[in-house]
Amino acid sequence: MGAPTRGTRLTDGDVRGIVEDAITSGRLPEDPDNGVYFVLASSNVSQGDFCTLNCGWHNHNQLWLFGPQFNISFIGNTERCPDGCQPQATSPNGNPGADGMANVIAHELEETATSPHLNAWYDDHNNENGDKCAWTFGSMYIARVSMYSIKASTIGRFS
Ligand SMILES: [Zn+2]
Repeated sequence: MGAPTRGTRLTDGDVRGIVEDAITSGRLPEDPDNGVYFVLASSNVSQGDFCTLNCGWHNHNQLWLFGPQFNISFIGNTERCPDGCQPQATSPNGNPGADGMANVIAHELEETATSPHLNAWYDDHNNENGDKCAWTFGSMYIARVSMYSIKASTIGRFS
């Protein structure tokens, strides 16, 4: 939300600071137990290993002294590296960055839901469950004039 206040080269600390600012200013509710705080970047923003080693990430971090841990996820704009982070050559919605980011958002949300503290689920290659099926897309469903490929409910189940 809003103009880039921390420049276009974000550190992990910047990402945490963006979430902290949003919570402490009241723009987002403080919900460490159920909230997942996504920081979405525009295409002129770089962050850590985005585009070289990952297309996004999730973590859990304390944002202030004696505060709780929050679920935080960074999602870079995939227009920065379409070959590595965009699954489709053609954007179904005419916005390649947003369509690419939707895939990464679903991936990180799913991993956050199943392993919020990064210790509940990983295989012997350190893959989380979302990594096991990354870039493999299932059936498409049609709703009115749109198509989607993931279903999520309010109780956190995915299909
Ligand atoms: Zn993953």
